[in-house]
Amino acid sequence: MLWYNFCGDNMICNLCPRGCNAERMENSGRGFCKMGYLPKVARIAPHMWEEPCISGTMGSGAIFFSGCTLRCVYCQNYEISAQNNGTVISVKKLAEEFKRLENMGVHNINLVSPTPYVHSIIEALNIYKPEIPIVYNSGGYEDLETLKSLEGYVDIYLPDFKYSSNELGKIYSNADNYVEITKNAIREMINQTGKAAFDNNGLMKKGTIIRHLVLPNHTKNSIGVLDIIKENFENCMVSLMGQYVPLGNAVNFEKLKRKITQREYNKVKNYLFDLGLEGFVQELSSADEKYVPTWDYK
Ligand code: SF4
Repeated sequence: MLWYNFCGDNMICNLCPRGCNAERMENSGRGFCKMGYLPKVARIAPHMWEEPCISGTMGSGAIFFSGCTLRCVYCQNYEISAQNNGTVISVKKLAEEFKRLENMGVHNINLVSPTPYVHSIIEALNIYKPEIPIVYNSGGYEDLETLKSLEGYVDIYLPDFKYSSNELGKIYSNADNYVEITKNAIREMINQTGKAAFDNNGLMKKGTIIRHLVLPNHTKNSIGVLDIIKENFENCMVSLMGQYVPLGNAVNFEKLKRKITQREYNKVKNYLFDLGLEGFVQELSSADEKYVPTWDYK
């Protein structure tokens, strides 16, 4: 399948596994993500709350894109992923923002939820490619052709691996074949970046870190995800996250209405340690709305 194409003034989009084949105009679209073909952003600023090897001391140069190809019911950034708030910018402006962030001294350019805009990101990187690493920070549910087009542009991938069953992928993210698609996507990411590499200050220069957010009442899911990672990507780093707070549409799902407990988190953490996977474990105290970025839609 052709992953995207321009037909007259508009784009026909198959950039992600949803394969909408939908028309995307400049500022709005008819696909699942509802996004137009120009980049829409909710916040561009140094960001301190990523893994230490990404945020370092000067922060990660985060560009939070609006719209999402997954739209999980419990999304911690629902105002921009589901409500699609943001400002539409040109590709040239996006390239200028790469440069502006780089000049601020951040350690990398962190493209958050970038999937609907891969075509624009490549165009912007062809205008200006920063000296610092480019981070592709996504839900992990990615189309292989789209990922292949990013080879040579992206240095670090930060994909989520959310579910160990397709049933949960359908219930919470309305995604088909979640497990197989995400597994194949992460395999391609690791093939592109190779083994993780760091500079003398411990900052990541290249590699892939698989993230997993523990959900309340779903430790079995988390353990299943860790098993999949161990079986398929044993040498890849893992980042375990306990920051879940019931936001967005989560209140409408009985099991998602509360934060995770210390007991639930310990169970998943201990399993991670028993498997001997390397990576990062977030403090449970990060489960607080104050850690959700403030969106200025600029
Ligand atoms: S990027 Fe948006 S429009 Fe394109 S296939 Fe994915 S959800 Fe559909």
